[in-house]
Amino acid sequence: MFETLSDKLSSALRNVRGVGKLSEDNMADALKEVRTALLSADVHFKVARQFVDKVREQVVGQEVLKGVTPGQQIIKIISDELEQLLGSGETQLNPKKPLKVLMVGLHGSGKTTSTAKLGRLLKKKGYASPHVVACDIYRPAAIDQLEILAQANELGFTCDRTSKDVPAIGRAGLAAAKAAGSELIIFDTAGRLQIDEDLIKEVQRLKDVVVPDEIILVADGALGQEAVNVAKAFHEALGLTGLILTKLDGDARGGAALSIKSITGVPIKFVGVGEKTEDFETFHPDRLASRILG
Ligand code: GDP
Repeated sequence: MFETLSDKLSSALRNVRGVGKLSEDNMADALKEVRTALLSADVHFKVARQFVDKVREQVVGQEVLKGVTPGQQIIKIISDELEQLLGSGETQLNPKKPLKVLMVGLHGSGKTTSTAKLGRLLKKKGYASPHVVACDIYRPAAIDQLEILAQANELGFTCDRTSKDVPAIGRAGLAAAKAAGSELIIFDTAGRLQIDEDLIKEVQRLKDVVVPDEIILVADGALGQEAVNVAKAFHEALGLTGLILTKLDGDARGGAALSIKSITGVPIKFVGVGEKTEDFETFHPDRLASRILG
C-alpha cells in the first residue's frame, strides 16, 4: 500500500507534538519527505530543492498549532505554497478577439488533439466560428487528423497538402478565418522528437506572419525532468504565453508543470485529461497541487 505524504509527514513529525516551536532540527526529516515526494512526482531536482528551502523558511520558528497535528500544519503550508507557485489567477487567455493562438511542442505531446480541444472549449464559451490551421507540412497524417477533428467539432479548417511554405499556409489560414468572421484562429505546428534549430526557425517564421496573441506550449504531463529543457528552449526562442499540460488522466503526477512554471514563469492555462475532444479543462492549481503531493 502506498503511504500518502500526509502519513509520511505524521510519522516524521511524531516527536514534534507538544514541542512549542517548529525548528530546523525537528523539521529535517519531514522536509526530506517533502523533497522525496516532489522528486517522485518528477519535479526537477533544482525546483524541488528551492521549494523545500522556501517551505523551511516559512515553517521554522512557527508555533505548533493547537487542534491540528504538525503534519497537517505542514501539509497546509506546502499546499498553499505549491498552489501559489503553480499560479492561481494567471490562467486566463488573452481576451482579444479575434484571438490568434500558436500551438507548439514536441511530436506526440498532444498538440493536434489539444488544438481541436481548445477550439471546441472556446466555441462553447462563445467565440464565433473558431478556425484551425494545419501547419505541419511533414506529416500528412497530422493534417488528416486535424481535419477529422475540425469536422467533428464544427471548426473551420485550412490546410494545403501540396505546400511546404508554412508562412504562406499561415497567411491563407488568416484570410480564410477572416472571411468566415472567426473570433478564434488556432495554428497547429509541426513537432519533432526533440527540439532542433530548423523546427524553431520554421515556427519563428510562422510567428512573424501570424503575430499570435498566445503562444502555447503543449507538454506531455508524463515528461520528467527533461520538461524544463524543452520549455526553456521554446520559451527563449518564441516567448511562450502559456502551457497546456496533457495526459493527466494517466499515472503522471504532473511534476513537469511545477518545474516549467518555476523555471520559465510561463503559466499553465489548460490540462488534457483524456483522448476525447471533451477531455479538456481549465487549469486548477489546487487540483494539481494535491496530485503532485500524492
Ligand atoms: P502531436 O504529435 O503533438 O500533435 O500529438 P497528438 O495530438 O497526435 O497526440 C498524440 C497522442 O496522445 C494521441 O494518441 C492522442 O490521442 C494522445 N493524447 C493527447 N492528449 C491526451 C490526453 O490528455 N490524454 C490522453 N490519454 N491521451 C492524449
